[in-house]
Amino acid sequence: MFIEPHWTTERRGWVEVICGSMFSGKTEELIRRLKRAKIAHLQTEIYKPSIDTRYDERDIVSHDSRTIPSIPIDNSQQILLLSQGVDVVGIDEAQFFDPELPNVCDQLALRGVRVIIAGLDMDFKGKPFGIMPALLAKADYITKLHAICVRCGHIANFSFRKSPRKDQFFLGEADSYEPRCRKCFNEGMTAGE
Ligand SMILES: [Zn+2]
Repeated sequence: MFIEPHWTTERRGWVEVICGSMFSGKTEELIRRLKRAKIAHLQTEIYKPSIDTRYDERDIVSHDSRTIPSIPIDNSQQILLLSQGVDVVGIDEAQFFDPELPNVCDQLALRGVRVIIAGLDMDFKGKPFGIMPALLAKADYITKLHAICVRCGHIANFSFRKSPRKDQFFLGEADSYEPRCRKCFNEGMTAGE
């Protein structure tokens, strides 16, 4: 029987990155993709950095509180050990992971795993965030989501920090930040709001 090449049963993995500012729906999109995979009876697992303990130690929680169980881990190498037999690996808050994560994702994809990564592409200063540029460069598929600027209603790519604390790794409550467009973000940074 003739089988077209793309219908063969050979497993091929790949890497998807969902990026954007805060309030752009990255985690919701990650959850949506993983739920679809679960419906197809694929083995799924989600990891997040143990630094992210804003809501719950065990569950990944998006801002609208639709939860999906996740595993907090200390370093990206653990993903390789924990993902034996997993078809689809989700990684949330990827910007907080160590520099080995892009290599880990490569290895997973070579194993035949579909890897779905969600993370902030820019920090509160508007600078590329941690390993996200490396992940975006290596990804097979990229989705950039947008929020809406609270000031003017345009498309927002920036996470403006209203809190006076200026530490990139500070994980504040959602109300410490607001989504802003390039113009309103720049005005806020210049004015030192
Ligand atoms: Zn604006």
